[in-house]
Amino acid sequence: MKRGFSDYGPDETWEADVAIIGAGAGGAAAAARLAEDGHSVIMLEAGSHWKPSQFKPSSAWAFRNLYTMRNTRAAVGNAMIPVPGGRGVGGSTLVNSAICFRTPDVVLEDWVENYGCSRLSVAAMKPRLDRVWQTLQVVINPVAVQRNNNLIFKHGADKLGLPGEWMPRSAPGCVGCGVCQMGCPTGGKWSVDRNFIVEALATGGVTVNGDCRVESVEVEGGAVTALLGRTIDPVTLKASGRFRVRAKEYISSAGPVGSPRFLLSNGLSTADVCGAHLYLHPAGGMLGRFEQEIRPWSGVTQGFYVDRWEQGYLLQTYSANVDQAYVGMPWSLGPDLMGVLKDLKNMAMAGALVHDEDSTGSVSLAGLTYFLGDGDRRRMLAGLRECAEVFFAAGATEAYAPIIGSRTIKSPDDIARVITDDIPARRIYLYASHPMGTCRMGDDPTTSTIDPDGRVWGWENLSVADASVFPTSLGVNPQVTTMAVGLTIGEVVSQRLG
Ligand SMILES: Cc1cc2nc3c(=O)[nH]c(=O)nc-3n(C[C@H](O)[C@H](O)[C@H](O)COP(=O)(O)OP(=O)(O)OC[C@H]3O[C@@H](n4cnc5c(N)ncnc54)[C@H](O)[C@@H]3O)c2cc1C
Repeated sequence: MKRGFSDYGPDETWEADVAIIGAGAGGAAAAARLAEDGHSVIMLEAGSHWKPSQFKPSSAWAFRNLYTMRNTRAAVGNAMIPVPGGRGVGGSTLVNSAICFRTPDVVLEDWVENYGCSRLSVAAMKPRLDRVWQTLQVVINPVAVQRNNNLIFKHGADKLGLPGEWMPRSAPGCVGCGVCQMGCPTGGKWSVDRNFIVEALATGGVTVNGDCRVESVEVEGGAVTALLGRTIDPVTLKASGRFRVRAKEYISSAGPVGSPRFLLSNGLSTADVCGAHLYLHPAGGMLGRFEQEIRPWSGVTQGFYVDRWEQGYLLQTYSANVDQAYVGMPWSLGPDLMGVLKDLKNMAMAGALVHDEDSTGSVSLAGLTYFLGDGDRRRMLAGLRECAEVFFAAGATEAYAPIIGSRTIKSPDDIARVITDDIPARRIYLYASHPMGTCRMGDDPTTSTIDPDGRVWGWENLSVADASVFPTSLGVNPQVTTMAVGLTIGEVVSQRLG
């Protein structure tokens, strides 16, 4: 059953075998796995239920209705990094670009060997990753919908002989309208509200309550006995009624910022481990100017990539409309920035996404911090230089770097003069939509938040199932891994329930 704000009275009481906080990638997969074993599940999601026809191609509308904190969330350290996250039934998959990567084997091997995550071995994860791939109907979108922004980058990468591929995407019906990040208006993108949650609802044992924000808990001994929260009026975004949910097992799938905050604000874990390891995949976007029209807002939002995983980064195309480009480019480009915006139809867009290796970050009740490490900073600059090379190889006449105080890059020879290795983190315009790692799984309670079964240390019936579980950064876009982790935790909780 699906419920939303208009279905609630001022004081509601609900009960199920399992209560899940958050209906995003991890929570949806956990719910589907539990439901298929016949357990009753109640999902509590702060945002609303949405239909594709309700989405509007407007950043302002999307930020207010589909993003957490109206898209003002940011990490502050030696750079200021916007960290967007989705809000609604579907979580961040409602607004993501649908890129799909399986978890690299070497990452899983590291998690097993160095963190004791015995349930996340390559062999155990394979069928779960296969299931996610199938459930999301992952495809390579046809060239006809990729359009110029992706085609021109592929052309440049091919000319340079770089290892590039079309990106697999959970968007089997993509028409290339380029507005994934405002909600897919055609239903062509397969966000989890359209698959895992549909599967879960079809069992008849699952209730998905939108417009319900969980705020606190009741506990007894080492067990959680109830979740308490407020219903949220989707028009005013203000708290309205109250609810109380009793279950045998509780799962936090509130995402890599929401889960540590829920645990910390209720004294369920401590800040020395919980929220202590924030990874982000910091990303920086370049623009290349072409004589021909590119129309970067049209076509698959992110369709092509260059695989530099071994070097610690990926190059990925991205699209943005004029207001996104305006806020995403350095003001210090001055008249050049205005020229870029005026001629946006002639711009191509792609950027570097870095595998956090020596950066450090955290989530606390006060906010998010992130300090870009020196190695990650160098990898970012190397990625940006390579991105510019691809643009020029494809025929660009100029390129623009996301560097405060930099100037237009006029030729391939000019790239290394503008994007120098000594540019400090504070001058790089970064963006990061992949927070991870803040409730690390591990076999040592002094360095992890949850045990290898997914349970918060010290609590017998409280688990975490979202991207905060990862012990390290992935280096590839995380939604597929998050769902496979959700299936894992759903399976373990189901076994405990019997
Ligand atoms: C703009 C954008 C683009 C992205 N593009 C890609 C991509 O192309 N490919 C990819 O692999 N990944 C992408 N990602 C990342 C990917 O979507 C996330 O890594 C993934 O969805 C994380 O899943 P999760 O379950 O941890 O959290 P989420 O999917 O974010 O779900 C968490 C949910 O919990 C809810 N919640 C939080 N607190 C509470 C509370 N107290 N009570 C009730 N509910 C609560 C939130 O409203 C949210 O709906 C993108 C993300 C963004 C924001």
